[in-house]
Amino acid sequence: MTSSSLPPSPIPLLTSVASYRQWRQRAFDERKSVGFVPTMGALHDGHLSLVQKSLAENELTVLSIFVNPAQFAPHEDLATYPRTLPGDLELLTAQQVTVGEAVRKASAVFLPSVQDMYPSGISQDVSAQRGAFIEMKGYGHQMEGASRPNFFRGVATVVTKLFNAVQPTNAYFGQKDIQQALLLRKLCKDLLFPHPEADHVHIVPTSRDPNDGLALSSRNAYLSANERKFAPALYKALQYAESAWSNGESKDRCISRALAIISEVKAQAVVDGVDVRLDYIEMNDSETFDVLDASSNNQSVAGDIPMILSGALWVGKTRLIDNIVVGDLNRIII
Ligand code: AMP
Repeated sequence: MTSSSLPPSPIPLLTSVASYRQWRQRAFDERKSVGFVPTMGALHDGHLSLVQKSLAENELTVLSIFVNPAQFAPHEDLATYPRTLPGDLELLTAQQVTVGEAVRKASAVFLPSVQDMYPSGISQDVSAQRGAFIEMKGYGHQMEGASRPNFFRGVATVVTKLFNAVQPTNAYFGQKDIQQALLLRKLCKDLLFPHPEADHVHIVPTSRDPNDGLALSSRNAYLSANERKFAPALYKALQYAESAWSNGESKDRCISRALAIISEVKAQAVVDGVDVRLDYIEMNDSETFDVLDASSNNQSVAGDIPMILSGALWVGKTRLIDNIVVGDLNRIII
């Protein structure tokens, strides 16, 4: 994006890695902590909850907006992904947190170009790609990775680039994308990242619609009013599975209960002319990401380790994801 096409903003907009680096150097010189919230834009209250946490915990906060081509498969929605920069800047400008005497607001918005982020170019067709890419072996093929085979390669690659550019003290990710957040912690640990260190990658709880629990997502904007009515089905199904799990039922039984909810909603949706289709609901170990055995239950799995109950649901042409961490999110070890 060129500076002349940018909307007016009281927060400095840094559109190149070079201009960002100058800004970052000043923060290093002044020994100020920098919190970082990477996003693809189309900001909503979920993103803003990450910003609030960063403002509270850091002297400076940087938010990036970059729609990353490498994490979209050729058949996915890169071209139509919502791009709402003027509205995003308005929302971000309104955010503030008071810490002691100081009122903290976002310090900079990083808006790199595709050319800056992918100097060797970027094709969505993996077989045609050239240059450096990051693969998290063993952690990218379960849950979301089972349905989107190159997704986490694209995410790990872009976040590596963003971390190299932004050099944050702390980084903030949403539980909404739990596998992504955990995988990125492992990335920082495995590659010995100094900025941020793995234990400075923070996970913020999922923000939901207060009325029906639907996880906030930029992709919710794709839903028609009719489709929106059926979108909370996934969270409801996950809640049923969670409650069965806490009652000591086997994993298979918990998943069956969730599937029964989806079938009910699907039948109602057909009557309204809405196509509801489950991609997956699964329960996985939060450390290894392995699928839990069918017969396991809350007595048989190691006491303290949280489990990830997650799923993806198509409502019309929109793919929605959600998860519940069964157990204490803070006990997840990487
Ligand atoms: P995105 O713009 O979708 O790539 O998301 C940017 C960051 O915001 C990621 O760390 C997401 O996990 C997080 N995020 C997205 N939706 C929510 C939500 N409903 N609650 C909390 N964090 C979220």
